[in-house]
Order: sequence, then structure tokens, then C-alpha cells
Amino acid sequence: MIIKLLWLTAAATLLAGGFCVFFDQAVLTRKGTVYRVKTDKKRAALTFDDGPSPVWTLKILDELKNAGVKATFFMIGHHVQKYPEVARRVAREGHSIGNHGYAHSVILYYTPAEIEEEIKYTEHVIREVTGQTTRMFRPPKAWLRRSTKEQVKALGYDIVLWSLNSKDWVSFNHRQMVSYLARRTRNGDILLFHDSGHAFGADGGDRTQTVKAISLLVKTLKEKGFEFVRVEELMHG
Ligand SMILES: [Zn+2]
Repeated sequence: MIIKLLWLTAAATLLAGGFCVFFDQAVLTRKGTVYRVKTDKKRAALTFDDGPSPVWTLKILDELKNAGVKATFFMIGHHVQKYPEVARRVAREGHSIGNHGYAHSVILYYTPAEIEEEIKYTEHVIREVTGQTTRMFRPPKAWLRRSTKEQVKALGYDIVLWSLNSKDWVSFNHRQMVSYLARRTRNGDILLFHDSGHAFGADGGDRTQTVKAISLLVKTLKEKGFEFVRVEELMHG
């Protein structure tokens, strides 16, 4: 019975996430966004979406500290309010914070007023809690219309997507994830991971493989001469 339930759960998860598992939707909406930076330097940026999480963000911060790497966390406003101490630790340890919207809603069909409210309110929450102001916005699931890109830029934001997707939310094996990423990483790449969430929601989830992947990925790419920087450093030298 339990095995059957496990199979059913696995099948439902795969169906719901199937589209994103086999295809990276960000390639459809990349145009006019920052998804990779043109640079001669052997630099790449690690980014973590959907946190902060009282479990996974803390473990990821420990791993980043051990590896001596600064990363960028695209936070959900609602999670920042729920776990303010975690958000503050991210800021305190020198990582960058980006705006990932308040409720992790896909903003594809939002009106301009709703989009502005979503971004500005999240900006306000991040500033109140962490003292950091962010000029980077990453739309949930990378979905946004062309007109929205112009609007978000007019609000003073860079829209930051990614060039390499770890698909860590469906990974059962961190070594496979690392080997996939390490083979593909080029100068200026922005790598996507998650510090929270699963196929059905942005809170909770199991990021064991993400946590395990960090030290191995950093070690493997440092051996190839790469250094890891925050997204702003990647963009502005
Ligand atoms: Zn997200």
C-alpha cells in the first residue's frame, strides 16, 4: 500500500512538474533580461530561489561559508516576513538579496498596477527586515510578458534569470547535478538552485541534494579556474 502511494505521489509530482523537468522555460523569456553576463573572466554566480527557509537556507549558508563563496538569494516577500532571522543572516554574511515577488505567483496575467504592487511591497519587506535594497527582480518560474519587462526596468530593476538550471528540485543525486553543471559552466553563467520549495509550493521541500552539491560544485569549478561572485559583481565587474 505504501509503495503504491509512493508511486502515485511520484507520478503526480512528475506530471505537475513534467514540463519544467524536461524543458527550461526561461529560454522562452530570456530576451531583454540578464541571464548570463558577457565576460572574459572565469566567473559565475550561484543563485538560490524561493527562500528564506528555516531549514535549507541555514544549511546552504553553512556550505557557502565553508566553501568561501558569496551567492545571491532571490527571496519571496512572504517568506522573508515568516523567517526574518534567516533573511537577516543571509544579509549579514555578505550575500546578495534579490526580489522574487511577494507570494510566488506567476505574474503573466497581472495588470501593471498589480505587478508594481507585488514588486514594491516585496522591496519594502526586504528593506524593513534586512536593511538591504535590491535592484534585481526574478519573476516566479521565469514567466513574464514583454511589456512587463519594460515596466519592471522602468521601476529601476534588472530582470535576472539564469543560463544554467540545476533542476535541483527534482534531483535525487547531487553528483549527477554537479557533473551536469560543471561540464556546462562557462564565463558569466548564472546558475539556478532553490533553497526552499517543491512541485506544489514554495515553502518546505527537501533540498538535501542542493546542500550536498555546493561544496562539490565549487571544488570542481575552482579546479577549472572559476570563481563565484554575487550577480551584481558578475554584471558590474
Ligand atoms: Zn521561484
